[in-house]
Amino acid sequence: MSTLLEAAFAPLSEELGRLRPPGMAVLDAHTHLGEDEDGQRMAPDTLLEFLDTAGPGSQACVFALHDPDRTPAYRRPNDRVLDWAQESGGRLIGFCRLDPADDPVAEAQRCLERGARGIKLHPRAQAFSFDSPAIEAIFAVAGDAGVPILVHAGRGMPPMDALSDVALRHPEVTLILAHAAIAGQGMFAETLAAHPAVLYDTSCFSPSDVVELFARVPAERIVFASDAPYGHPLTGLFQALRVAALAGLDEDDCRLVAGATMAAAVSGDPLPAARPPRLDAVRPASGPLLRVGAYLMMALGARMSPEGRSDPGRMSPFIAMVRCVSRDPAPGPAEHALLRIDSTMAAAEQLLAEGGPEALAATGLVHGAAVIAATERLDSTSA
Ligand SMILES: [Zn+2]
Repeated sequence: MSTLLEAAFAPLSEELGRLRPPGMAVLDAHTHLGEDEDGQRMAPDTLLEFLDTAGPGSQACVFALHDPDRTPAYRRPNDRVLDWAQESGGRLIGFCRLDPADDPVAEAQRCLERGARGIKLHPRAQAFSFDSPAIEAIFAVAGDAGVPILVHAGRGMPPMDALSDVALRHPEVTLILAHAAIAGQGMFAETLAAHPAVLYDTSCFSPSDVVELFARVPAERIVFASDAPYGHPLTGLFQALRVAALAGLDEDDCRLVAGATMAAAVSGDPLPAARPPRLDAVRPASGPLLRVGAYLMMALGARMSPEGRSDPGRMSPFIAMVRCVSRDPAPGPAEHALLRIDSTMAAAEQLLAEGGPEALAATGLVHGAAVIAATERLDSTSA
């Protein structure tokens, strides 16, 4: 990390040091290695450097991207990922990615014999639904091997109830719903409420999705994840643990979210006993923080647009609006959070002015500021 980046992220990093359970090597439940057709790439050394920023000795579950050489059966990307995991001294835990239309059972068995500790399915990238004999067979293999299946599901409204159906037929398989189950969060939280082993990973750019997750499902079923290279372990863990603090989790429960629950899932150990969700469905909010939160989401939306992918400067007008709201002369109980958000956005503007990789990294500061806006604990009497 350059000195400029280190200085820009130092306030988030310092707070993360206080939030992280002491002496713990955290485990990121969702990261990718390789090269995607969309231009994203991640090498194992870079991922390990990213993970170091989340805490000493941090580990990650790793799986392939949408690599161009994935045919046949994802064999080549899976072999690379499993080799990298093996060379990582235990820090990277390899999953195999399967295409249900391309020999998935043989590929799963081949990878499990090579040491894979989980299976990754991506219904949008591989364009499949969950009501097929191939999916049934994949769940059966996972059940026999005692490994979890991580699924990227819940974007839009395809027939996702078929995923709930197959999961309920295989309660022995731990199912991990990526990105807090995306837009399907409420639907999965209801249809899978009786399933003993559904986990939700926290890799989201919208912190509200993660806050709401703690109102819908047990904290013992929520696992920290970054989705690197799309997200970053530092801001990903900052998000998971700031929301955990908002939900009132104690140190032992924070250890579960930060890695202990996911470690149990990949080791085939029993998951911690689930308790009722910790947050209320209706929660107090600060008006100015809701407003900056909305502008910060607009900045991230601009960054993820086709133009914004190569031009992070598209976030600038929204960052200027955030800073204007943050300097409200009568900020009320959110004063401290607004000051932090303003200084974080000043740092983002500096990175954007720098250009190159620094400007791209400004996205992490916008995400970090959005996390602060969505998770500040407010004492209405302190105005
Ligand atoms: Zn992903």
